[in-house]
Amino acid sequence: MTSRNALVKIAYKDFREQHPRMYAKHLVSAFEVAGSILKNHRKRVRKGVTCRLPFVKRLMMKAENQAYKLDRESGVIDLPIRAGCHVELRLIVSQYHRKYLDDTALSLGSLTVLPDRVIVAFRKEAPKPFVPESALSLDTNERSLDGVFVEGDVAKAVKAEFPEVAIIQQRHHDRRRRLQKKKAHDRRVSRNLCRREGTREHHWIDYKLHQVANSVLKFAEERKSAIVLEDLKGMRSKRSKELNRRLSMWPRRKLHQIIEYKAQWKGIPVVKVDPRNSSRTCPICGRIQYSRMGTEFKCECGWHMDRHINASINLLQTAISKGMAGGLWFNPGAFQHDVMMILYEPAMAARSEPNGTSGIVGVT
Ligand SMILES: [Zn+2]
Repeated sequence: MTSRNALVKIAYKDFREQHPRMYAKHLVSAFEVAGSILKNHRKRVRKGVTCRLPFVKRLMMKAENQAYKLDRESGVIDLPIRAGCHVELRLIVSQYHRKYLDDTALSLGSLTVLPDRVIVAFRKEAPKPFVPESALSLDTNERSLDGVFVEGDVAKAVKAEFPEVAIIQQRHHDRRRRLQKKKAHDRRVSRNLCRREGTREHHWIDYKLHQVANSVLKFAEERKSAIVLEDLKGMRSKRSKELNRRLSMWPRRKLHQIIEYKAQWKGIPVVKVDPRNSSRTCPICGRIQYSRMGTEFKCECGWHMDRHINASINLLQTAISKGMAGGLWFNPGAFQHDVMMILYEPAMAARSEPNGTSGIVGVT
């Protein structure tokens, strides 16, 4: 089955007979859920992953936005089940939830009911991106975002460090290795423990990446900056397995995803640029350096710059030359070598600030 309609055709009749008075919209939602599970299954099969036929283990229910009512004032959900039978769910509304419930620009999306919680999706019409007055170009690395901020004819280096992400990845990797050895006699237990480790790891990294993204976006929003990022699509290194794992692209792609969707939400323009040779090119004379280099990029013409910041300057120049950054321009001669703006650093990650909107500290 490749479409919801095909599923409906073969199974709706039986389904209807088994649940004669059930609210019809819920049946349609059930097919929707089944359809998306099948889609994921087909994707795995296409990739050649051996997997069993999919089934839903967890009790769950999905309702489209016309199939339930939410009183945004009191937080009570009215869920029709069948004629004359409604279920009322009283949500525990915190200040965080209030923010979304009270925002009239947000309309209700689907509702997911799980045994332990309820998920309400909100929709928002994406605002039109603003016309940038400055640019924030970022080179994405394993442990940091490094870049350049350009406003008028002033250019400064910027940095957002997240060394914990690589540390967390390493720690969980080691832990999984140990578990696999220890539980080698019981593959089921080993698999379950590893999966739990994996989930924890992802939660932690997600949390860190959200904080980094929030700091970057706050900076860009306050200064009306366009954000320039490298296009990571199709970047895959052909190195050893070990190195590939260590330099896993996953957190970087994830960070880009978070930045992009949050930027869209806030109307901040994001420009994606092909990163080819960005770390090897001299932004002044255009020479490309193929030899290995240390932490600093040095060119015969006299230009020298931190390798990562140099890459971000090239990303920015590509964006400008393709007309993707509005009327902005960049003058490398105006680069203030002695100034580094810190967008984010681990010390700002105190748990006491869960929304991650710590202030931006300018350091000279
Ligand atoms: Zn040069």
